[in-house]
Amino acid sequence: MPIANVKKAIPYSGLLLYPDRNPLEIQENIALAPLTTFQVGGPARYFIEAHAEHEVMEAVAFALARHLPLFVLGGGSNLVVADEGWPGLVLKVSLRGVEFEGDLEKMLFCAGAGENWDDLVALAVSKSCAGIECLSGIPGTVGGTPVQNVGAYGQEVSETITRVRALEIATGNTLEMSNADCGFAYRTSKFNGVMRDKYIVLEVDYLLRRNDEPKIEYADVKKFFAAQPGAGKPTLQQVRDAVRSIRQSKAMLIVPGDEDCRSAGSFFKNPLVSEAEATRIEVLAHKLVPGRALPRYPGGNGLVKLAAAWLVEQSGFHKGYSRGPVGISRKHSLAIVNRGGAKAKDIVALKEEIQHKVFDVWGVSLHAEPVFVGLNRHSSE
Ligand SMILES: Cc1cc2nc3c(=O)[nH]c(=O)nc-3n(C[C@H](O)[C@H](O)[C@H](O)COP(=O)(O)OP(=O)(O)OC[C@H]3O[C@@H](n4cnc5c(N)ncnc54)[C@H](O)[C@@H]3O)c2cc1C
Repeated sequence: MPIANVKKAIPYSGLLLYPDRNPLEIQENIALAPLTTFQVGGPARYFIEAHAEHEVMEAVAFALARHLPLFVLGGGSNLVVADEGWPGLVLKVSLRGVEFEGDLEKMLFCAGAGENWDDLVALAVSKSCAGIECLSGIPGTVGGTPVQNVGAYGQEVSETITRVRALEIATGNTLEMSNADCGFAYRTSKFNGVMRDKYIVLEVDYLLRRNDEPKIEYADVKKFFAAQPGAGKPTLQQVRDAVRSIRQSKAMLIVPGDEDCRSAGSFFKNPLVSEAEATRIEVLAHKLVPGRALPRYPGGNGLVKLAAAWLVEQSGFHKGYSRGPVGISRKHSLAIVNRGGAKAKDIVALKEEIQHKVFDVWGVSLHAEPVFVGLNRHSSE
């Protein structure tokens, strides 16, 4: 179906006149499950993979002209897609290209939204650039990283992102957002908050520290190197390797054939609670599970961050827990996994079972981290 058929895309009308370009390839009824790490979900009514910015714009014009709901797909690593699929257009952003420039102290990496995130980390580490080494092995694309302010092992992308270039869906304008404009906080930004579904990330800049030391603050990373005494100060590459190895031991690295990584990573966010609430839960923990102290960390703004994994485990959901075709990873109690043949409804049912039990036992609401596509809002909370 050539895009030239679209007549009524008002904000984008000028974009439809590209006589020298090949028509956009618009596919129909494309299965979404294979495009996600969970491997669940029905088909997209329409599907376009955009390799260039003008294709992103043409795809949006196509959706607007037909009043189709638009879903922007990156690497599909943080999604639960409805069994019914998506009734509108799924636009896969495959914008490639990485440029970098800098000096001996700093280097700015500008990456297309469709670049594989871990490849970018590998490139940065190979150029002796620090700032994202602890985010090694996280699946997905560059464009997905600002959306939930991707973080792991003591780093978040908000520490290094200096600019996000994005397309405003309603107007067709591209604009540049500073770090402050993005409104980053724990696992959130304006892209999954107040600006949800309003922008398509096209390109992201990360400012990294050249020839600086890797970050070794997270307990698991410290433990990894403590087990190798006398090995000297770890390099950026060694920290990257350590993080990938720790992730693999928890099925948090995509390894073909490992069914425990057929997931969306951690399924629940770590709850942020007030000091008084943390004390209440600590007292309860003392009573219910004596000898198992409640893990708690500073959450910023006077809040306390609790470990969702601990709450899940201490509510009776052990690693390897099964509920038909879904279950909890054998290697990580916070990952819901598709054991094969699962439906989105099975995942939602287990999510709700865990949320209800954790609330009943601890009085704490757990919020899901993945994005629910084509499922109603209630299922996703
Ligand atoms: C095994 C495993 C381990 C994981 N570990 C971590 C971890 O340690 N830390 C962490 O933070 N996350 C983790 N995740 C979750 C996931 O990898 C990240 O959230 C990732 O950044 C999602 O990127 P994606 O490209 O796959 O986005 P998708 O899953 O395709 O989409 C996620 C959301 O981002 C939006 N989006 C994607 N691309 C764009 C774009 N170009 N413009 C606008 N919106 C866009 C989508 O519309 C959707 O709302 C893990 C997932 C798995 C499967």
